[in-house]
Amino acid sequence: MKTLVINAGSSSIKYKLFELPAERVLTTGLVERIGETSGRIVHTVFKGDDAHTVTRDGALKDHRAGLQQVAELLMDAEVGVIADAAEIDAVGHRVVHGGEQFSATTIITPAVKTAIERLAPFAPLHNPPNLQGITVAEEVFPNAVQVAVFDTAFHQTMPPHAYRYAIPNHLYDDHRIRVYGFHGTSHLYVSRQAAEMLGKPLAETNIITAHLGNGASMAAVAGGRSVDTSMGFSPLAGLMMGSRSGDLDPAVVYFLGTKLGKSFAEIDRMLNKESGLIGITGVNDLRDIEARCAAGDELAELALAMYSYRIRKYIGAYIAALGRVDALVFTAGVGENSDEVRRRACEGLENLGIKLDAARNIGRKKEAVAIHADDSLVKIFVIPTNEELEIARQTVEVVKSA
Ligand code: ADP
Repeated sequence: MKTLVINAGSSSIKYKLFELPAERVLTTGLVERIGETSGRIVHTVFKGDDAHTVTRDGALKDHRAGLQQVAELLMDAEVGVIADAAEIDAVGHRVVHGGEQFSATTIITPAVKTAIERLAPFAPLHNPPNLQGITVAEEVFPNAVQVAVFDTAFHQTMPPHAYRYAIPNHLYDDHRIRVYGFHGTSHLYVSRQAAEMLGKPLAETNIITAHLGNGASMAAVAGGRSVDTSMGFSPLAGLMMGSRSGDLDPAVVYFLGTKLGKSFAEIDRMLNKESGLIGITGVNDLRDIEARCAAGDELAELALAMYSYRIRKYIGAYIAALGRVDALVFTAGVGENSDEVRRRACEGLENLGIKLDAARNIGRKKEAVAIHADDSLVKIFVIPTNEELEIARQTVEVVKSA
């Protein structure tokens, strides 16, 4: 089956075309600056071991124009991989918020689209462009089954004592204010990989997953089901991130409004865009912060210490949530590449069964590897995430079982 995975953002569309069950990547690409005067599509096609990239510049009026050009590239005489748009069997769409309604991957119907639209207030920056991506994919690939894979779905297995906030009941009853959690596709993908590395069925594993990218979240996964996660009602909660504050006393928000005269929009921007690593150091890329640390910069050192300490605290919390832990997994940009963050995050946890092997931990990891000491009770893995592949697999699964 040829399965196209689409991740539509406000001004961009990421796409990857898979042949399944072989799990072969045929093409991948990025449509950028949709709606601006100068748009761009970077399209890479894989043939055998060869990768060939072409770049198309030119204004892209809207998502429809962007996806139409992607379809043309897919059918292009030189860099194409299909002869007709009808060869695409399924399109798997990443959708950020599925609320309480979607606990699994779903074939898209008009009712599903209405639900995604209704959930837009929960993810105002993501659900509307995700929906736009769906609408144009239905037009451009009319023969394909359209499928929605929700970032929140994996966490719908959390028990109420983990997902409820201790605020007045009616806020949950009337407005569904609760923990949802995100990055579900990634937490599930690396949990499955970790179970394979443990040589156990997923159902028999207890795993802590740390997805550390620009956005970052952790999850406690018992038997392949999420039982707790660090992001909350929105992706702002939990770990310190590139530009997000993570956990914060809500009284700070009140203070910012009443004493400093900040508007809600200003506070929202401050906590989402101007906090985290960037708030402490002025830059949000951990590579820059590590370089500054090496040069003796005190604020960079503070940021790295805060960032790693928050991860360590969540590891402790999730050991408590799970009771017994088989594996701790690091993934995404920081988790896969920063031995320094992994080292600091695991520091001092030996008595909790977590013991890194210094030499195995060194370096960037391009493949799944074990980095624990031989006598570590908990296995520690670095597993490169592959959200697109997980979306493609789930898409095919629901199409086949339909
Ligand atoms: P996104 O959430 O945007 O998908 P990624 O998972 O690609 O993010 O992670 C991006 C982040 O990974 C970068 O901002 C950077 O901080 C970090 N990163 C990437 N490469 C390295 C590296 N070699 N060392 C340390 N950090 C890295």
